[in-house]
Amino acid sequence: MAGDGQRIGHAYIFSAPSAEESERMARAFAQGILCEHGGEKACGRCAACRKVEAGIHPDLITVRRLEDDKGRARREIVIDQIRAVNQDAWILPNEAARKVYLIAEADKMNPAAQNAALKLLEEPPNGAVFLLCVTNPSLLLPTVRSRCVERRGAGGEQEPEQESLKLAGEYLRAAAAGDRAKLVRWCFAQENLDQRDTQALIDALCLTVTDMLCARQANPGLSTRQLTEIAALASRCGEYLRVNTGSKHIFGLLAVDTPLGSGNRG
Ligand SMILES: [Zn+2]
Repeated sequence: MAGDGQRIGHAYIFSAPSAEESERMARAFAQGILCEHGGEKACGRCAACRKVEAGIHPDLITVRRLEDDKGRARREIVIDQIRAVNQDAWILPNEAARKVYLIAEADKMNPAAQNAALKLLEEPPNGAVFLLCVTNPSLLLPTVRSRCVERRGAGGEQEPEQESLKLAGEYLRAAAAGDRAKLVRWCFAQENLDQRDTQALIDALCLTVTDMLCARQANPGLSTRQLTEIAALASRCGEYLRVNTGSKHIFGLLAVDTPLGSGNRG
């Protein structure tokens, strides 16, 4: 199996523009973990691979939104579902060396469910691997994201574009400089961005802040607390964008609620 000779982390985020694509990526990865022959890729022929393809591998457990009485998917993944995962994850695998939990639309976990997931990721049961499928990683708690390896789908659309990353950098430097007027001017300058570009900017901001929190990227002088606040603010903006809040409102929020660094006043 894929674990021999290469280290498998215990938690991954698969991010793609559609829920189907993110789940497809995670399933392919799970197949590689569970494959009897291992290697970089699943062989696609062994019993384990075929069971994954048929959706009947007993060690690949999929969690998705429950349905209501009328058969419609509920709005959120709830805490009881994550608690059930936690209990199950301590039980040994049936056939494979690992148990893989695929959480479809993990960005639809409500806050209580995300906190339960965080506890699980902080002290993962031996041999359990968690695959979080998302279309909008900024809806995950930064603390959850920081414990996962992120894999982005190919195709580029969900990759934050260079321009968005540049803007996110400008915003963070303005915040770090501690000059509210400068930050407000920056926000005014962006408020004509359309919904899509605003979303791309918020995604880029989440990504950059997460990198800074994990020390994968130097930060312009913001404290951990300020970065965490900015991450929370960005995920709030992401939620507003999902209900079609206009860009003006988003940048208004950033102008007012962004915590300021102490600047370079020495
Ligand atoms: Zn195989």
